[in-house]
Amino acid sequence: MAINAPEGTRDLLPDEALFWERFKGTAAEVFGRYGYLPIDTPIIEQTELFVRGIGEATDVVSKEMFTAISGENLRRWLEEGKAPKAKGRLSLRPEGTAGTVRAVVQHDLVPQGAAPAKLMYAGPMFRAERPQKGRQRQFNQIGVECLGAEEPTIDAEAIIMLMRFYEKVGIPRASMRLLLNSMGCEQCRPPYRELVKAYMDEHAAELCETCMTRAELNPLRAFDCKNETCATVMADAPKITDHLCEGCREHYDAVKALLDGAGIAYEEDPALVRGLDYYTRTVFEVQATDGMGSQNAIGGGGRYDKLAEEVGGRPTPGLGFALGFERCVLALEAAGVELPRAQRCDLFVACVDDGVRAHAFTLVQQCRDAGYICEMDHQHRSLKSQFKLADKLGAARVAVLGPDELARGQVTLRDMASHEEFPVALDSVAAELSQALL
Ligand code: AMP
Repeated sequence: MAINAPEGTRDLLPDEALFWERFKGTAAEVFGRYGYLPIDTPIIEQTELFVRGIGEATDVVSKEMFTAISGENLRRWLEEGKAPKAKGRLSLRPEGTAGTVRAVVQHDLVPQGAAPAKLMYAGPMFRAERPQKGRQRQFNQIGVECLGAEEPTIDAEAIIMLMRFYEKVGIPRASMRLLLNSMGCEQCRPPYRELVKAYMDEHAAELCETCMTRAELNPLRAFDCKNETCATVMADAPKITDHLCEGCREHYDAVKALLDGAGIAYEEDPALVRGLDYYTRTVFEVQATDGMGSQNAIGGGGRYDKLAEEVGGRPTPGLGFALGFERCVLALEAAGVELPRAQRCDLFVACVDDGVRAHAFTLVQQCRDAGYICEMDHQHRSLKSQFKLADKLGAARVAVLGPDELARGQVTLRDMASHEEFPVALDSVAAELSQALL
């Protein structure tokens, strides 16, 4: 029986895989202008990092993390009932922030008094969620993290560059909505959390069981509940923005003023709490407005001024975001934007008969060495089929090589768009291609 890719995973076939490469290139270009440099951390980390960093009570950690067990440990667990010890357990990263912050702390990338470390990453993340459109178990993210500065200019420039990136990859501004909120800090959030909890207790009869269970550990999660009655009840709950301390209020106002100044439109959404525990102050999310169903968040992030300490570092404020590649592709498709066709072929060398193959082979190598994407038939197709293949590959030109051309030291070069044909000396084909591209 044929074996398929696991549920919730997707193969990126060549067109899409090439688009992913370009997508990463655009991110490096746009974020590079803001001083972000690449970092590449392991796909597996100690489970403890995510438990402490992201928060044990979050869905990502409690339900959605893939934890790796070695074959030997699995056998001992199944056969001898000995569960593997917590220490040394590994998990596949469900997101990129915890690992990046761990690396910053481990390598002391932000020594006291240093300029902030601006880092970007791209790669697969893993969450054991129930798969649906736009929700996979393995998906690709690009993310940035800025550690070492708490000023609102960092928040604003990150949001600005995220919006610039989406526009640069082709998602129309009109198909996106930017949501903004402040989550407060360790001073103003705990009393606010109590207010929400008290409000939820008052409305316990109307709220779903999951929300009421969460109310104990993390009542703010109820704002994320997809249940309609819960959403209606929570719409009237106390709003964090009415309960920010002075410092958080000033920070939030400054971020908004900077975005206003930059002409970035946003909607304030006091119910935007985001799923992870580590956020403080600014949080934001970008949603695609067309055809995405419930999984419409194409990116989001926020400030996490306590995370470095959570994972054992010295106090280091931070801010970051992540955007999902697959959801951006869905957003582009929904907005009717055609993905660029990956295939490009500058020249196809067609053989009139097998006697000229060796010469065609040499010509193809010469043109590739000169920097052109060049192909020939490898399966003894007829000349007609070779032209069909050239068409399929999107060849801009076809060089026809037969015994007559060979005797004259030439090929017949055909422009596939204009159907023009003209002879070119065998040793001038690459030069002719460079002329044509000019
Ligand atoms: P998060 O880390 O949950 O804030 O996710 C950041 C971005 O990654 C989201 O806005 C999505 O674009 C993408 N993303 C998150 N979870 C998934 C998933 N299960 N499948 C596909 N994309 C996802």
